[in-house]
Amino acid sequence: MSVMRPVIEHQQVVAGLVRPVGVVSVALSSAAGRVLAVEQVARVDLPGFDNSAMDGYAVRAVDVVSASARRPVFLPVTEDIAAGRLDGPPLAAGTAHRIMTGAPMPLGADTVIAVELTDSGTDAVAIYEPRRPGTHVRLAGEDVRAGQQVLAAGCVLGPAQLGLLAALGQAELPVRPPARVLVLSTGSELVEPGNGLLHGQIYDSNGPMLAAAVEACGALATRLRFVADDVAQFHAALAPHLDEVDLIVTTGGISAGAYEVVKDALAAEDVVFSKVAMQPGMPQGAGTYRGVPIITFPGNPISALVSFEVFLRAPLRTAMGFADASRPTVRATLAQALNSPAGKRQFRRGMLSSAGDGELPGSAVVSLVGLPASHFLSSLAQADCLLDIAEDVVRLDAGEQVTVWCLNQ
Ligand code: AMP
Ligand code: MG
Repeated sequence: MSVMRPVIEHQQVVAGLVRPVGVVSVALSSAAGRVLAVEQVARVDLPGFDNSAMDGYAVRAVDVVSASARRPVFLPVTEDIAAGRLDGPPLAAGTAHRIMTGAPMPLGADTVIAVELTDSGTDAVAIYEPRRPGTHVRLAGEDVRAGQQVLAAGCVLGPAQLGLLAALGQAELPVRPPARVLVLSTGSELVEPGNGLLHGQIYDSNGPMLAAAVEACGALATRLRFVADDVAQFHAALAPHLDEVDLIVTTGGISAGAYEVVKDALAAEDVVFSKVAMQPGMPQGAGTYRGVPIITFPGNPISALVSFEVFLRAPLRTAMGFADASRPTVRATLAQALNSPAGKRQFRRGMLSSAGDGELPGSAVVSLVGLPASHFLSSLAQADCLLDIAEDVVRLDAGEQVTVWCLNQ
C-alpha cells in the first residue's frame, strides 16, 4: 500500500491554491457580513452638533437654580424645537425653548430640563427642579471625533459596525468580496431533486449541500447542474464559467473504480490526486484547471461535507479576510467508546452537550451520532460537531477527552 498523504499536508496544498480575493467598493447596504479591507476614519464628529438627550426644555441652568415643587420657576416658552429644525434661534436669558430629543441645542442654553420635571406648558413652563449645567446635553464629538479611526481593517461588518458607519455618513465601503465558487457534482446516477427517480438513480445531495456550505462561510456559490460520468461533458460544463469563478469544487469521480470522470478529465491538467490518511474522505484531488484552482472531493455525501470542513472552509475564509477562519474547537468528554482506523485521522459526527451538575463550568460531553461509514446522511444532519481523532489513536473509551470542531458557530 502506498504511503498516504497526511491530512495536514493536503490542508496545506489546498490552502496554497486558494487565492485571496481583492478589494471592492460596495454600497453600505450591501456590506453586511463582509470583512472591511481598509480602516475607517471618521470624516465628521459624532454627534455632529450639541443636541438634546431628552424631550423637555432648553434653559440656562442659572435661571432655574431656585426651582422646587413648592416654588417652581416660571419661564416663557419662546420656541418649539423639534428634531430636524434647522434655523437655530438663540435662547434669550430668562426664557425656555421646548425641545425634543435629538434637536439642536439653541445657542445660549446649557441644560435640558426633562419634561417630567415640568408642567409641560407650551406658552410658559413651570419648572420643579434645578439641574446642573450640561444635564441631558449631548456634546458634539463626544462619541467620535473627526479624524479618529473608528474601525480597523479586518473587522467583520455586522449590524453595529454598519450602524456606526452609516451614522458617520459613509455610503461606500472597501470590503473583501465573497469568493466565487463553482460547485459541480458528477455522477451518471444523479437526478435533480424535484424529479422522479428510476431504479439505480439518486438525488444530487452534494450540490445543494456544498453550495450551502460555501454560502454559509461567506462565499458565493454557483451550482452547476451535475454532469454525467463523461469527460467531454465535464469540460463542456466548466468551460463557460472559467472567467467568472475563483475556485471550482467537484464531487465524485475520483476514487479507484472505472468511470472516474473527474480523475480522467483532469489527468492532463495540473491536478494531483492523492489518498489522504483520513476517514471519511480518503480520495482527494487538488490543483489548477485552466488557470482556476480546483479542489475535487469524493462523492459520498458525508465525505464531501467533511472534506469541505477539513480542507476548504478555512482557506476560503482566509481568502476573504476573516480572521477567525477555522472552526472553534473544544476538548470534550466522550459519552461512549469508539474505534478508529490505525494510521488515519478520523472525523466522526457528534452532538455536544454541557456536562451534568457538579462538573466544571464550560466542560462539555460529546455523543457520537451515526456510524463511521460515509453514506449516513441523516446522522450528518443531526450533528453539531466533528470529533477529530488523531492518526495514531485506535480506540477511545467513554470518559476520555477528545477534540471537537464546533460546527454551529
Ligand atoms: P464516487 O465518489 O463518484 O465514486 O461516489 C461515491 C458514492 O457517492 C456513490 O454511492 C455515489 O452514488 C454517491 N454520490 C456521488 N455523488 C453524489 C451526489 N452528488 N449526491 C449524492 N450522492 C452522491
Ligand atoms: Mg461517481
